[in-house]
Amino acid sequence: MPRPERVRSTAASRQLRVGGATPLSTTDYPGELAAVVFCQGCPWRCGYCHNPHLLSVRGASEIAWVDVLAFLRRRQGLLDAVVFSGGEPLAQRALADAMRTVTQMGFKVGLHTGGAYPERLAEVLSLVDWIGFDAKAPFDAYPLITGALGGGVAAQASARLVIESGVAHEFRTTVHPRQLSPHAVRRLADDLAQSGVRCYALQEFRAQGCPSAALASSTASYLTESFCAGLASKFESFALRRA
Ligand code: SF4
Repeated sequence: MPRPERVRSTAASRQLRVGGATPLSTTDYPGELAAVVFCQGCPWRCGYCHNPHLLSVRGASEIAWVDVLAFLRRRQGLLDAVVFSGGEPLAQRALADAMRTVTQMGFKVGLHTGGAYPERLAEVLSLVDWIGFDAKAPFDAYPLITGALGGGVAAQASARLVIESGVAHEFRTTVHPRQLSPHAVRRLADDLAQSGVRCYALQEFRAQGCPSAALASSTASYLTESFCAGLASKFESFALRRA
């Protein structure tokens, strides 16, 4: 028999590490009222990341998972969904159990992911009702955005899983003019459309809250209406989100 201390610490290690939460969002899961849970940890280091406090495995101001569940219990019948965002939610093995728990509470499950962990994504796909997939760049150019080798291969495998799963989803790309050229955006959009993505959004880089002074200082956007019209025709649904 393990000692009681050991039991407690093992159970605690299975708890989802949460770096923050939004009690009510109308924009993080299309058409649903959702709470957003920001999971701690991410293997990538995008220069435009607006959540640098979530990147480490442990955060300085984590919210205990039991407290998140207590909040969600008070919102049963008032909220439709819980969205797991980050950071990269799939960086934590506790994610699947957390998804099962909120499903049992009657909530739909949303997932925001960059696709860094295709095997873990495959394990949770049956638990997810909607996915927002961050396609960072053409898959052969990921390190320019993520600062990590191998990310494009993983992201492409994850993208394929999402498309083939039949789970409702949106692919979206944040565009900083210094990091993604018009040619790169067209190439990515072509690839996604040919792979079967039907719903795509471009998001203008937002300087507010960006920790990189270099990126924040050069934001002239080339996302004109005529540029976007050429992309929109490739998808059933297309959105341009201004900064
Ligand atoms: S994948 Fe998302 S959370 Fe991770 S560094 Fe990039 S923008 Fe930040």
